[in-house]
Amino acid sequence: MINLTQVLFEQRGQPRGDEHNAHIADLYNCDRATWYRRNGYSPEPFTPEKLAQFAIGHGYEMEVGATLIDAGYNVRTGVEVEYLDMIGHPDIVIGDELLIECKTTEAVNPKDSVSLHHAVQAAAYALALGIEDCAVLVKHARSHVEAVYSFKAEGYRELIEQRAAEVATRTKPGAPIPPAVPNPISPWLCRYCDFRMCPTNPKHEQQVDF
Ligand code: SF4
Repeated sequence: MINLTQVLFEQRGQPRGDEHNAHIADLYNCDRATWYRRNGYSPEPFTPEKLAQFAIGHGYEMEVGATLIDAGYNVRTGVEVEYLDMIGHPDIVIGDELLIECKTTEAVNPKDSVSLHHAVQAAAYALALGIEDCAVLVKHARSHVEAVYSFKAEGYRELIEQRAAEVATRTKPGAPIPPAVPNPISPWLCRYCDFRMCPTNPKHEQQVDF
């Protein structure tokens, strides 16, 4: 009998092999956490629950892409981008006209406007591809509300360029370790941070050395 739990856990937990690069998602990450990753420090391993949560998000992205293909759109998936010395993998690109990011959340009610960290990520992908229009889809798992936020990438260019320069300087391998200060774009990340060696991490006392 195949041990499905074991197979899924091991497969989902494979490292991507690009840990030393700066990622577009690092624009809203804490620079200290990015520094740890880029400088070879090991985070707390993902739990099976966290990996299953990622799989739900990936499943939503696949379903949206397949639905748009069925609706006749020119859907591009698996696109890789390089932009301002960062790499990234946007969820869905419709031809040369629309960049779509798909998110899932445990929240019940949608926000009035797009979350800044989602917008920055989508806009950076769009700017990398020369696409003007972005959409962030947020599926609310508990209420099944699917919110769509549409915006122009250009409005985030200045912030993205500023953050890209900071990420490049502060987090590159060999750079001095940045202060343990959360990113103002996403200050809640400490609660979910897997780098317990950071003194700001609420689970710092539970750190295990690998
Ligand atoms: S605990 Fe907070 S400040 Fe420390 S690395 Fe993680 S996200 Fe950054």
